Amino acid sequence: MHNNEVKAYIGIGSNLADPQQQVVDVLPHLNQIRETRLISHSSLYQSAAVSDIPQEDYINAIACLATRLQPMALLLELQSIEYAFYRQRSDDLKWAPRTMDLDIILFGNIQQKDSHLSIPHVEMQNRLFVLQPLQEVAGNIYIPGLGSLSYLIQQAPDLRINRLEFAKN
Ligand code: ADP
Ligand code: MG
Repeated sequence: MHNNEVKAYIGIGSNLADPQQQVVDVLPHLNQIRETRLISHSSLYQSAAVSDIPQEDYINAIACLATRLQPMALLLELQSIEYAFYRQRSDDLKWAPRTMDLDIILFGNIQQKDSHLSIPHVEMQNRLFVLQPLQEVAGNIYIPGLGSLSYLIQQAPDLRINRLEFAKN
C-alpha cells in the first residue's frame, strides 16, 4: 500500500448476458479508476436468483482496490462503470436483471450510514455470496461494527452458492 491509499472491497454481481464474462470483463475497468488500482480479486461464485421470473444464475466476486479517492467519489466512479455495462443490454429488453452491480462492501475501517452510501454495505451479513469471496481475498478480517468475518459466515442465512474453480483469470 502506498501513501494515503485505503483498501476498499468491492462486491461485483451480474446475472445477465453471460454473467461470468461480465464479471471478468469489469476487472480491468476497476483498475482504470483514477487514483485507484486493483490489488486482487476472488474466484467467481455462482448462486441461483431468488425470483419468480426465470433468469440466469448470479455470478459474484469481490475485488480489493487501493484508492486515494473518498468513498463517495469511488461510488460515483463505480456507477459510471455500471452504466457503461448497462448499455450492453439487447435492445428488445426494456427492463432486465442487472448486467452489472458494483457495491462498496468495505472502505478501510470506515463506518458510515447515510441515504446515499452506507459502509459496511447494509446487506453484507445476509449475503454468503459476498462473505465467502471476501474471506477468500481478505482472510478472517474484522468487519467494523459487525465482528469477525468467520463469525458472520457462521451466522449468515444458508444460501446455496458454488465456487467456480476454473474461473479465476
Ligand atoms: P442494489 O445494489 O441494492 O441492487 P443499486 O445498485 O441500484 O441497488 O443501488 C442503489 C443505491 O444504493 C445507490 O444509488 C447508492 O446510493 C446506494 N448505496 C448505499 N450504500 C451503498 C454501498 N455501500 N455501495 C453501493 N451503493 C450503495
Ligand atoms: Mg448496487
